[in-house]
Amino acid sequence: MTTKTVDVLLVGAGAMSTTLGMLLKQLDPELKICMVERLDYVAHESSDGWNNAGTGHAAYCELNYTPQKPDGSIDTTKAFNINAAFEVSLQFWSYLVKQNALPSPRQFINPTPHMSFVWGEENVEFLRKRHAALSAHPAFADMEYSEDPAVLREWMPLVMQDRNPADKVAATRVGYGSDVNFGELARAMAKYLGTQPDFDLLLSRIVKDLDKQSDGSWNVVLKNTETGASETINSKFVFLGAGGGALPLLQKSGIEEGAGYGGFPVSGQWLVCKKPEIVERHLAKVYGKAPIGAPPMSVPHLDTRIIDGQRALLFGPFAGFTTKFLKQGSFLDLPLSIRPGNIKPMLSVAMHNMDLTRYLISEVMQSHGSRVEALRNFFPNAKDEDWTLSHAGQRVQIIKKDADKGGKLEFGTEVITAADGSIAALLGASPGASTAVGTMISIVEKCFIKIGGHSDWTARIKEMIPSYGESLNDNPELLKRVRAYTLSTLQLQEQKETLAQVQQADTRQSA
Ligand SMILES: Cc1cc2nc3c(=O)[nH]c(=O)nc-3n(C[C@H](O)[C@H](O)[C@H](O)COP(=O)(O)OP(=O)(O)OC[C@H]3O[C@@H](n4cnc5c(N)ncnc54)[C@H](O)[C@@H]3O)c2cc1C
Repeated sequence: MTTKTVDVLLVGAGAMSTTLGMLLKQLDPELKICMVERLDYVAHESSDGWNNAGTGHAAYCELNYTPQKPDGSIDTTKAFNINAAFEVSLQFWSYLVKQNALPSPRQFINPTPHMSFVWGEENVEFLRKRHAALSAHPAFADMEYSEDPAVLREWMPLVMQDRNPADKVAATRVGYGSDVNFGELARAMAKYLGTQPDFDLLLSRIVKDLDKQSDGSWNVVLKNTETGASETINSKFVFLGAGGGALPLLQKSGIEEGAGYGGFPVSGQWLVCKKPEIVERHLAKVYGKAPIGAPPMSVPHLDTRIIDGQRALLFGPFAGFTTKFLKQGSFLDLPLSIRPGNIKPMLSVAMHNMDLTRYLISEVMQSHGSRVEALRNFFPNAKDEDWTLSHAGQRVQIIKKDADKGGKLEFGTEVITAADGSIAALLGASPGASTAVGTMISIVEKCFIKIGGHSDWTARIKEMIPSYGESLNDNPELLKRVRAYTLSTLQLQEQKETLAQVQQADTRQSA
């Protein structure tokens, strides 16, 4: 028996579902929306502050977004796409701040310079070429490059202190990079949604099953984890924004578009330092190059994090392996996800990714001392006792069918929608929450605008996201306007005095 009938059911209360809920409520305030979350709190899985790195991925610092082609040139395609996608998120957040639908930007996004740092002749040559290829375009024109130790010391004193002067090093820098607390952002969006008519948030409700009805709607069966009671919600549209929990639910939906998908969970760990005398000497996200054979999401970085107004440093990620799909999930998640339809792709991935297996084993076996040793590549004076290990969220990488090998492992994000637009699921975790707005707009387009006939919504999206429908990469004037608007609304312009404070703290500590 159904206990509730809604237009939209959002499963999970992380960055993705809250973004989709926010978009839909702006587009049609009369939509009846219900969001259900298995935990008793919003955004306590991957979206929560310390469960991810909080990098506002704009491709300023992530070297894995610009691979080197066999001819030595730099492939910038992914970097331009991610940069434009992040600008879409920044525009939507700016719109919401202006509408007072989000709090002061400092509560969820903070200016944090983005840098890439490399050592060794070959890597320096790569970074020089990368800088030349990117900075030729208006989107990356503000990116600075230097091999000069004096300049690098000014940019990142901790990284340069006591480094061998004979070492060949280089860095790039974009002053208006960001650190985002995606958990706080999701909670702010859920809070706003809670003030709107026809919106319900049901916490401590785990989705157990979902069944397609003859009228095209879905009956979704929930269990209340506090009372043990079951309830069924009927919805015209369902979004499986359950993070690592999305794959099992997609499988339960039985839609043919979801056939053959599997998941490979990779957990993450950080070294964290909260000692003020160290933290105040670094204000940046400094990304390096991933070790050979390591998967793309393992690029090491030394980051400033700003969570609940407190600054801290994070280094990692160190990968780990568990069979759980969610940090607060079950060890049976992986075995129970094996189905006749995905066993071939999963076995194929196991056979063809021995590098990844070896990498994970070596990561899991690391001691605290060897983790801090890896950190010393970025912070030569790091001491074991100043850093503690913290457990991040789970990333369930996508396994799918492949005509040649039988199966392939993908490190990106994929939206799977039923042909009739009645259900959509989000799998994968990269580039993640940074590009949530563009990803959720793609769901709105497929499931509501094209299929639902809401063609008037495109004009409304354009009001919220001025670049909507146009290419920021092909339109420098529009890019300039949009960027000036988002940087000022979200207060992301670089504060020169902050850099000076970092240098003063460094001088004090080094004396
Ligand atoms: C180590 C790590 C580092 C990362 N770094 C970055 C970064 O620097 N920048 C970036 O942009 N992204 C990053 N990401 C990715 C980013 O965290 C995710 O893309 C994003 O948080 C996913 O949001 P979500 O809403 O899909 O998932 P989640 O935040 O995990 O939310 C899903 C919710 O669904 C709930 N749920 C699950 N199953 C059920 C069920 N059956 N019934 C009801 N509720 C359910 C869960 O409890 C959870 O609250 C990182 C991720 C990890 C793990």
